[in-house]
Amino acid sequence: MFVAEIFHSIQGEGELTGVPSVFVRTSGCDLRCGWCDTKYASWRPEGEEMSVDEIVANVLGYSADYCVLTGGEPMIAKGIHELAARLRSAGKHITVETAATVLPNGITCDLASLSPKLSNSTPAAASANGWNERHERTRLQPEIIAQWIDGYDFQLKFVVATENDLQELDDLLALVPRPIPRSKILLMPEGTDIATIRGRDETLIEVCKRQGYRYCNRLQIDLFGNKKGT
Ligand code: SF4
Repeated sequence: MFVAEIFHSIQGEGELTGVPSVFVRTSGCDLRCGWCDTKYASWRPEGEEMSVDEIVANVLGYSADYCVLTGGEPMIAKGIHELAARLRSAGKHITVETAATVLPNGITCDLASLSPKLSNSTPAAASANGWNERHERTRLQPEIIAQWIDGYDFQLKFVVATENDLQELDDLLALVPRPIPRSKILLMPEGTDIATIRGRDETLIEVCKRQGYRYCNRLQIDLFGNKKGT
């Protein structure tokens, strides 16, 4: 498996915010978000080949009970199902952070952290080296989202830049053939610096108050800035 990094930190986003966790970031992604904050795992994948045995040994070297499989897109990483099962057998709680473009196929997972991408993610054609169309074709797969929802405890996280994104979010939810409690829908401000994130907070919080969605901070940016290994 091609791995960009393994690190021990606290979860910065979602229902498990603040929980000490080991993160396994696989390298490689089936999308190319224009605002991707981990380009070293998507646009320019970096890392090293590691066996499942090596990854498990590395993770077990940390005291955290929680493990987050993230990317890039971890669901396209070779051996991800075996890795998740092995880590669970070793007693870890498993979160899979995925854009939900790939079927779960029975992966071992305690929390499916689904982050479908709205059109604000689509890269400009001129700078995307052919990825513009592929990203647009791939990014939203309501039937795949439904399969994750059917099989797992889940949260649905959306990166929101402006209030205009919310109509698109509603349109997507209408296409997912499952009832989804509003409290499972997390709105996260787009941005990789504190000023940008805080600048979007007021709008997002008002939307959450109005529609019952849940506001989701990016604590890791507050605490560490946009840095690898956090
Ligand atoms: S899905 Fe995630 S890792 Fe892949 S390009 Fe988008 S933000 Fe980056």
